[in-house]
Parts: sequence; C-alpha cells; structure tokens
Amino acid sequence: MALARCESYSPDEVAGAVAELLEPLGGIEPFIPASGRVLLKPNLLKGAEPDAAVTTHPEVVHAVGRAVRAAGGAVALGDSPGVGSLDSVLARSGLAAAAEELDAEVWPFDESVAMARPDGARFRRIELARAVVDAPSIINLPKVKTHQQLVLTLAVKNLFGCVVGRRKVTWHMHAGRDRRAMARAVIEIAHAVGPCLHIADGVIGMDGAGPAHGRVRPFGFLAASTDPFALDAVLARLLGFEAAEVPTLVAADEARRDGLDVGETDLERIELAGHWADELRLTDVQPPPMGRLMFVPAFLTNLARRLIRIRPKIDSRTCRTCGICIESCPADAMKVVDRCPEIDDTSCIGCFCCQELCPEGAVHVKRGLLSRFFSK
Ligand code: SF4
Ligand code: SF4
Repeated sequence: MALARCESYSPDEVAGAVAELLEPLGGIEPFIPASGRVLLKPNLLKGAEPDAAVTTHPEVVHAVGRAVRAAGGAVALGDSPGVGSLDSVLARSGLAAAAEELDAEVWPFDESVAMARPDGARFRRIELARAVVDAPSIINLPKVKTHQQLVLTLAVKNLFGCVVGRRKVTWHMHAGRDRRAMARAVIEIAHAVGPCLHIADGVIGMDGAGPAHGRVRPFGFLAASTDPFALDAVLARLLGFEAAEVPTLVAADEARRDGLDVGETDLERIELAGHWADELRLTDVQPPPMGRLMFVPAFLTNLARRLIRIRPKIDSRTCRTCGICIESCPADAMKVVDRCPEIDDTSCIGCFCCQELCPEGAVHVKRGLLSRFFSK
C-alpha cells in the first residue's frame, strides 16, 4: 500500500505521484500481461464534468494509461455506468479524449458471466461483466467519495461497477433496507473480481451527500495497493472514519470469520510506503447525511422506525420530470404525480439510487427526528 501527495491534476504532478506510488509495488511491469490489454476501470457513475468530482479524473486515467503504454502494454477502458451509455459518459467525463490519446479500446460491460463461489461466500450466485472476467489484467481506478448508503466509496465499492447494468439494481433489491447485507454483497463482488492493481483518485474528492451531490473537496493525494480492502482501511482512517463506521470494512471482517479470504483491514498489519496517514490525515471530512446510523440497535430501529428513518425527498422546484429516478428505483417505489415523482415510503428501501443518478440534484434527504440524535 502506498500514498503520495498530489494536490492538482497538472499532468506532471499526477505522473510523478503515480510513479512514486508504483515504485514500492515493483513498478507497473508486474501488472502488464504478455498478451492482451490492461483494463482500466474508473468510477463512471454517470456523465459529469471532471470538476464535479463524481468520476475518476481523466488526468489520473491518462497518467496510469501512459505508464502502461510506456512499459509496452496496451489499454482498454470499461465500466457499467448507472445511467447513460458508456460512450456518452466517457465523453462528458473527459475520458473519451484520454481513450483516444491512449489508443484504448472501449469495453462496455454488457454481458454477464456467473462466477464460481468459494468457501465462506454468503451469496451462491454472483455474475460479473465478461469484459472483466476475460481481461488479462485490471487496474481499478476509484474516486475517493462519501456514499449515502455505504458511507465511503473507494476501491472495494468501485468494483461493484463490474456488475452489468440493471443487475446492480437486483442487488439493491436483494439487500433491501439492510446496509450490512448490501455491504456484504459489495465485498463478495470485489472478492470475485480477483487480483487487480488499485489506484485511488483522492486529489479532489467528495464529502457530504456523495457519491454524486456532495461537496467537492481537495483531499490532495493518490493511493495505490494490490489489496482493495487494505487500501480502503487506510483511506477510511485518513478521512477520519473508524473501520466500524464503514459497512464494507465491517462486512470484510464478518466474511473473514466465515472463511472467505478477503484482504487485510487491520491497520497494524498493513505495510505502508510513502506519506503515512498522520501526515496527510484530513480532519474535517463531512460524513454523508445518512451517516453512521447503521449501528443504531435493531430493536430501537423497529420501535422508532418512523422517527429514525432517513428517506429521499424530491424537490419539485428542481425536478424536470426526466424519469431517470423512476427507471432506476430498484423497489419500484416512485411514480409521477402532478409532473413530479412521488415516493411510496412503505416500498422505499433507502438505497438512494434516485439521489445518485438524478441529473438535477433534485433528490434530498429527509431525516426523522431521532436520526439526528444517532448520526454525528
Ligand atoms: S427527481 Fe431528478 S431524476 Fe427524478 S424525475 Fe426529477 S429530475 Fe429526473
Ligand atoms: S425511492 Fe430512491 S431510495 Fe427509495 S428505493 Fe427508490 S431509488 Fe431507492
């Protein structure tokens, strides 16, 4: 695991930081296959300008792609955006130009393959995109952001994008209102992807109502690891979160106890090169509004459900009735009433996909009275 300071997206600074990260990992060469392309998997949640900090910045993709090519490798770019075609998201996010300059093939994740399930797995069926399964080598390029449902989206959560299109919605429905179940699904999916190099873009990230409508925040670092769990554990600490507050880190510990060989989350056992977290640590990172509520005792959640629930709320003044939220709602909990989507609270599972994908920022968070007491 390596950390490097990087305070801007100037090509020289990013390239220098990427080289600094790769050195303790043995350079880029071990990640370049003898034949075939290296698949770069950025965070392409939806089409957004690079400055919005929703997607991995093109300069990071560029710098990593150039390092691959300089070492004799060829590059492909792929993902399964939450909304829009891969081509349109690449164009809006500034990655189409990077793909062209890198002579990269674009691999949409549009066909699924069922994966063998190991001992300790809770889910008996996991499907990944064929492009991911067939890629001889993968470099995962997450964006460092907060996340309404899972508190943080880092290396592990970015691999959830290896599930094809609306099959992601099925996972949300499967997990229902249970954040822990969703986190367990996400970590088993990351485990199924297998070995990758992970390079996280934390130069400018997002806090608050991430992963799409939070505050754009200069964090000033890049981080790399061959273990996404180790990378997430270190970055969670760096961002001011305890492991117990991050559902995917909690789920990783549970999965390990079940016999699944997930990566390392114990900070004492993670070898770190470069700037250590104390030097780069950020003290004022705002958690998502849904915050740390997952650890409210279950009996109390049941007792005071209505007071404690955090729900999405549509701002009818901002909504343009595009219908994206309705199409993407896994619970089918939304319908248009008077030209604005209305949410059926009894069906809503609180996944906040509607907020993530709304292009207008019209979905807000409505908090029950007690939720303010339990969230920081
Ligand atoms: S809330 Fe957002 S996504 Fe839903 S219809 Fe309105 S503008 Fe579209
Ligand atoms: S209304 Fe929004 S938060 Fe509720 S289930 Fe649908 S997409 Fe998820």
